Amino acid sequence: DLNYDILKIRDDFSILGDVIYLDNAATGFSPQQVIDAMVDFEHNYRSNVGRGVHSLTQIASQKYWHAHEKVSRFIGGEKGVTVFTKNTTEAINMVAMGLSWKPGDRVITTVLEHHSNLLPWRALSKYGVEVDVIGIDSSYMPNLKELEEKITPFTRLVAVTHASNVLGVVTPVKEISEICHKHGVKLLVDGAQSVPHIPVNVAEIGCDYFVFSGHKMLGPTGTGVLWMKEADIEPLFLGGGMVESVTADGFTPETGYRKYEAGTSNIAGGIGLGAAVDYLTKIGMENIFEYEETLTKRLIDGLSEIQGVQLYVNPNPKKRIGVVSFTVEGINSHEIAQMLDETSDIMLRSGKHCCHPLMDFLGLKDGTVRASIGLYNTMHEIDLLIASVEEIVR
Ligand code: PMP
Repeated sequence: DLNYDILKIRDDFSILGDVIYLDNAATGFSPQQVIDAMVDFEHNYRSNVGRGVHSLTQIASQKYWHAHEKVSRFIGGEKGVTVFTKNTTEAINMVAMGLSWKPGDRVITTVLEHHSNLLPWRALSKYGVEVDVIGIDSSYMPNLKELEEKITPFTRLVAVTHASNVLGVVTPVKEISEICHKHGVKLLVDGAQSVPHIPVNVAEIGCDYFVFSGHKMLGPTGTGVLWMKEADIEPLFLGGGMVESVTADGFTPETGYRKYEAGTSNIAGGIGLGAAVDYLTKIGMENIFEYEETLTKRLIDGLSEIQGVQLYVNPNPKKRIGVVSFTVEGINSHEIAQMLDETSDIMLRSGKHCCHPLMDFLGLKDGTVRASIGLYNTMHEIDLLIASVEEIVR
């Protein structure tokens, strides 16, 4: 009943075939349109960008700049600065290292965070910065009362995930943003798991920094994004391409994203990411969210009927993405993932998902099995997963 042409979509992904790929939270596939955009660069106008005047560099520079524009628009970030990075991890490190810190400054994060949104903040202890970690409630939402309590006059920044890569919960980032700004605290939102699956508007959220990975949203590997409301951090990388002029004893940086993209960028990747945004926009993020939620609901309902299966999901269908974590009593998570691969060609992730503190919090020594849905998965694949888990348990 959804206006969603799954067969046509699947046709664009030649890698989909005999395998059932449910590891989209780790990375996803690129449609032919993204691959074509990169091949077009290689075949027809490969050259460096933002340098020189010849015709090839003009075409490449125009397309690379245009890709930034598309990404900005896609997240409602036209008023800010959209910088291309290698991935989410690099983007978070750029913010952590680009702000200037004083001893006693504090950062608040949550127990939900991926290591990439924890370790860069912890590393600031060398400047005397301390990190507070807030907990989650029974539906895995960050505890906002605790957030307000933990904010002190020394708190500079809150760093929170928009969607958990383990529990699938979508966090109330707009409310968090309001709390932060009431107290004059900056907010970084990790959108690595939200941008591929739900409509995102950074202006509506009101955050200061928003980071995500291109490779999890149909884009090429080696692509990510740092969006900033204002270009208010120091560039972490210095060198060619990011300066307007250099003298014997100083330099004037470029403005906009170029200030933060020193050296030769992943140009083909950036152009591919622009094509990924075109692809997602054409289907529509609302449609993608709605479609994926029908699969998510079926998966949760199916797994919850199997004896011995424990699910770790948010019951609210409006506040979750298709990341479904579960354990099976008496069987190690890796063993289940391996059996699913061997018996049914189902590819999913097992273990701690780069979230060790969360696993400790949940008391899960072996981690979880995690199925993560992408826009090209089918109900049939979900039913096969449910049947295969049932078989293993039996
Ligand atoms: N944050 C979250 C919520 C993630 O899911 C991931 C990837 N698993 C990352 C950060 C890191 O992304 P990347 O590996 O692309 O840097």
